[in-house]
Amino acid sequence: MPDVFADLVGQDDAVDTLRRAAASAAAVLRGAAAAHAAATAGPVDPDDADALAAEAEAEAAEGAGGADPGAGMTHAWIFTGPPGSGRSVAARAFAAALQCLRGTGCGECQGCHTTLAGTHADVRLVVPEGLSIGVGEMRALVLRAASTPSGGRWQVVIVEDADRLTEAAGNALLKAVEEPPPRTVFLLCAPSTHPDDVSVTIRSRCRVVPLRQPAPEAVAEVLVRRGVAPEVARWAAAAAQGHVGRARRLAGDPEARSRRDAVLAVPRRLTGVGAAFDAASALIEAAEAEAEAAVVESDAAERAALQTALGAGGTGRGAAGAMRGAAGQLKELERRQKSRATRAQRDALDRALVDLAGFYRDALTMALRAPVAPVHTDTAALAEAGAQRWAAEGALRRLEAVLECRAAIEANVKPRIAVEAMMLTLWKG
Ligand SMILES: [Zn+2]
Repeated sequence: MPDVFADLVGQDDAVDTLRRAAASAAAVLRGAAAAHAAATAGPVDPDDADALAAEAEAEAAEGAGGADPGAGMTHAWIFTGPPGSGRSVAARAFAAALQCLRGTGCGECQGCHTTLAGTHADVRLVVPEGLSIGVGEMRALVLRAASTPSGGRWQVVIVEDADRLTEAAGNALLKAVEEPPPRTVFLLCAPSTHPDDVSVTIRSRCRVVPLRQPAPEAVAEVLVRRGVAPEVARWAAAAAQGHVGRARRLAGDPEARSRRDAVLAVPRRLTGVGAAFDAASALIEAAEAEAEAAVVESDAAERAALQTALGAGGTGRGAAGAMRGAAGQLKELERRQKSRATRAQRDALDRALVDLAGFYRDALTMALRAPVAPVHTDTAALAEAGAQRWAAEGALRRLEAVLECRAAIEANVKPRIAVEAMMLTLWKG
């Protein structure tokens, strides 16, 4: 049985760090347990009890630093790396190792299982649904994180996309990280430790675990282990450009594949100004449709749940006041759902742009006769034709147009405007 770190492909340094930290965390717990046992064991020689406690403490200290200060356990961590490198996979694996009954992240015990399944009582996961994580959500979380772990090990809080914290939420988190409850561990995920992503003060309290973009071979290996045919795995890993989750979807989801095909058909379709605007519309609408499909079910379920909770249709005394409160809550829900839909749209559009960038990158490397494998093996012939027509400079201009479009959307330029500008450059060069 592979342990909890098995899916962290191509991240040997990070896995090494996390294994050692988990071992030292386990030693801290053993030390505390031994000290407790010694203190409550009844009529023992006080010297013996002291010796036991001292031994436990020494063991904990050894694990928590000692000769190698890098080995230690600490209460706040930041996992950084490009999207798809496995930041949240790493954070979850580490959480499992902390909750592992064997203290190693064995992958077999109840602690490992429930953590990875997302049902462990002492592991809280914050996944931002909208464009940012609000202060209310963060305060509630910090409050709950301060409670004693029910399983007797650690209270773990994982914040995915910590770069999407609002400033106020970041401050709430900072307070908790500055004065951590003794058994609470914060695991933050962010693209980088740049001040735009994580505030300098939070950064200064955390240990950083940098992850790199895994090589396609490593990603393919994971897919094969999960039962994907080697041929498909290699294709998906290359097409996903080091993004593990994306590779998994491409290998297993026909809809994801056909969306990618539609995106990669764009360069072929750019035959004039009208075609460029049409392509822009098609790309935006595809992203909207994909996002809509992703959120429609949860939107409806949330709305129904809220209406049930509010007892829609109540009458009698107090009903008017209750209705006013209900309207407020519905409005709040709609605001959250809208924010989530916008995020889903941007994410879908960004995935399309990354695919498109891969195509022009292929054309560029072919024009330069660079000895690297193409990202998209299935459109390699088309990229080669582009390379001959545009030469390296033309391919580079087009690649830059795609990257500029991504940056513009990230900087809040209206997606349609950014995509139209990009399409015109992709057509004219
Ligand atoms: Zn375990």
